[in-house]
Amino acid sequence: MSEQLPPLTPATLYLVATPIGNLEDITLRALRVLREADVVAAEDTRRTGLLLKHFGIARPMISFFQFNEARRTEEILQRLIRGEKVALVSDAGTPGISDPGERVVRAAIAAGYRVEPVPGPCALVAALTASGLRTEEFHFVGFLPHKSGQRKRVLERLSQMPGTLVLYESPYRIEKLLGELADCFPDRSVVLARELTKKFEEFLRGKPAELQKQLEHRSLKGEFVVLIGSLEDRVAGGALTGQSAAERPQ
Ligand code: SAM
Repeated sequence: MSEQLPPLTPATLYLVATPIGNLEDITLRALRVLREADVVAAEDTRRTGLLLKHFGIARPMISFFQFNEARRTEEILQRLIRGEKVALVSDAGTPGISDPGERVVRAAIAAGYRVEPVPGPCALVAALTASGLRTEEFHFVGFLPHKSGQRKRVLERLSQMPGTLVLYESPYRIEKLLGELADCFPDRSVVLARELTKKFEEFLRGKPAELQKQLEHRSLKGEFVVLIGSLEDRVAGGALTGQSAAERPQ
């Protein structure tokens, strides 16, 4: 199939989305770009190496993570100057969304190079669209700061915003976050989207205090997207519901 498609464009930075759990979610275009790129810049070369191996792809890789982003951005610009096709991937999902990418995208655009998205999985979009909350207006906040005072200030500011709020949160802080939501957003509908696209995918829905109660009896593992409905929102389906995904290839 790829023989009939035009080749990749030289001197282009491709932002390649990769699965957030279910390997079937890789797109045909992502595979082709990864196969044809001169180099794959990866947040974690070991992890991306396994992904490439799974799909039978062997390409040179360089690491590109939070703490070498500045240096690697320079290197990627040098590669673009040489006319290379560079594929940027993060550990999972869409590069640049709470993941490294923004800096090199800005630098490539500023230097006059082409930046092409190769869209695909993104935890925020998957969670929002299946949450049952309003989607026509939403605010994505990424990760909250770690310090309690700063978190409180951010949550208070967000409580004034219209639309659905979408956050990423680590499983280690999810209980703390529910306590904070019970203080700041006691009457809002909250959805916890857990382990999206994976075997134990689950959506937990309810007011913050209801979710706290529900979770008293179980430990929360895995990855979460947290969604807070706007004031006028009502959770679709009403009561707390957990949906387990059917067995899926991981
Ligand atoms: N760039 C990624 C994207 O497009 O979604 C997000 C990267 S961010 C470092 C990782 C966070 O995304 C996790 O802590 C979690 O909040 C969320 N996330 C990623 N995969 C997820 C999944 N399968 N289920 C639920 N949340 C997920």
